[in-house]
Order: sequence, then C-alpha cells, then structure tokens
Amino acid sequence: MFCQNCGAEVSEKAVVCVKCGVALKRGGNVYKNSLNEEEGKDWTTTLLLCFFLGLFGIHRFYTNSTAIGVVQLVTLGGCGIWALVDFILILSGSYKDGDGNLLVKK
Ligand SMILES: [Zn+2]
Repeated sequence: MFCQNCGAEVSEKAVVCVKCGVALKRGGNVYKNSLNEEEGKDWTTTLLLCFFLGLFGIHRFYTNSTAIGVVQLVTLGGCGIWALVDFILILSGSYKDGDGNLLVKK
C-alpha cells in the first residue's frame, strides 16, 4: 500500500509512514469500525492524569503521544509549564491525542 500523504510505498502492517510520519489510513472495514469505537480518549481521565501526573507526561502516554510523553517525563513537564499548558488545553477542549482526535467527554 501507499502513503496517502506523500505517496511513498509502505508496509501493509505499518501504522505510520516511515517517510513523512503521517498516520496511515486503511481501507478495511473491520479496522475502520474498531477505530471509530476507539476514537477519542476519555476527557475526564486525561484531565485527572494531567492534573496529578502531568509533570511525568502520563496523560501523553495515555493519549498515544508517547514521544512527547517521554520528553515531558525527562523535562518534568517542561518545568511544569508544558504540563500546565496541556492542562489548560484539555480544560478548554482543544487538546488532541496522538492520532489527532479530540478527547471524548463520556
Ligand atoms: Zn508519507
């Protein structure tokens, strides 16, 4: 299959394009349906994780932004500022997870 963003040939099992890093979309209905059900992490959980464990980037791990989570863990949430910014983003409803989905208030 090919990346829908840059057109590079990518492995069938690849989740992101190795060339441009964009998340790959799949045609399979099974995948699509399960993706829709999984769409969006829980807003309340993310807010609480950010509030209590934001310095360690735990809310980033929960929302699939693992790379940013690691950076936040190492920098202690950007000395707390980054964690605070994330907390405000979550509160205002504009925080997006690693897949670009907004959080879901259940
Ligand atoms: Zn690509």
